[in-house]
Amino acid sequence: MITKDPNEIKILRQGGKILATVLNMVASKVKPGVSAAELDELAETEIIKMGGKPSFKNYRSQVGDPAFPASLCVSRNNEVVHGVPGKDKILQDGDIVGLDLGVIYQGLYTDSAITVPVGNVSEKKLKLIEAAERSLEAGLSEVKPGKFTGDIGFAIESTTKKYNFQVVRELVGHGVGKAVHEEPEVPCFGKKGTGTKLVQGMVLAIEPMVNENGWKINFAPDNWTIVTEDGGWSAHREHTILVTEDGFEILT
Ligand code: MG
Ligand code: MG
Repeated sequence: MITKDPNEIKILRQGGKILATVLNMVASKVKPGVSAAELDELAETEIIKMGGKPSFKNYRSQVGDPAFPASLCVSRNNEVVHGVPGKDKILQDGDIVGLDLGVIYQGLYTDSAITVPVGNVSEKKLKLIEAAERSLEAGLSEVKPGKFTGDIGFAIESTTKKYNFQVVRELVGHGVGKAVHEEPEVPCFGKKGTGTKLVQGMVLAIEPMVNENGWKINFAPDNWTIVTEDGGWSAHREHTILVTEDGFEILT
C-alpha cells in the first residue's frame, strides 16, 4: 500500500498546480490549423519554466522498449490515448483532441488529461467529451477512506452507460506520485466493494477513456498511439487526486 506523507503531499500539490496551469494554457491554444507538435513544445517549455520536468518524455513501458518521444500526448478522434504529437498531426475543424500531460516536480509525479473540441464539433462528439467529464466526476464522488477502487469503476461505467457509450477496459487509472504508474490499478469499470480499499494519503490518477462505440482498442502502427478497434471516436479525462480524511482533493 503506497501512501504519501504530508511533505510529499505538499510537493504534489505544487506540481499539480504547475500541471493544471500548463494543461489549461495548452488547451486554450487548440484551434484548427495548429499542429500537435506546437502544443507539445509549448507544454514542455512552460513546465520547465515553472520548475518542473515533463514525465512522459523518454518514458518506457519496460526496459528495452522504445521511449516516448514527447512531453504531451495528443490523441485525436479515434485515438484513445498515448498519441504521438507529430508536426504533420494538424488539428482540423470538427476534431476532438485529448491532451495528456505528466509533470515531475521535486521528484514527484502528477498526471492529468482533458479532451477539447476543435472549432465546430458535432453534437455527438460533444456528448462524448461530456460523458468523460461526468463519469470522472461520478468516480470522484466515490472517493473516501473505506471505499474501494471497484466503487470508482462502477460509478464511471454506470455514468458512461447512460450516454450509451463504452469505457475502455484494457487501460486503467493508477496510483501515482513516486513514479508515472504505481499500485493500485483503478479500472473504469467494476463491482462495488471490490478491488483495493482506499485509505487516507493515497494519490490516484483516475481517468475514464470513453468510446462512442465498442470498448476494444488496438495499437496504431507507431506502436505508441492507442486507437479504437472499430474506428469510433474516444474522449479522455483525468485528474490526480489525494484521498483525504473524509473524501478527496483534486491535485491537478
Ligand atoms: Mg495521463
Ligand atoms: Mg494516467
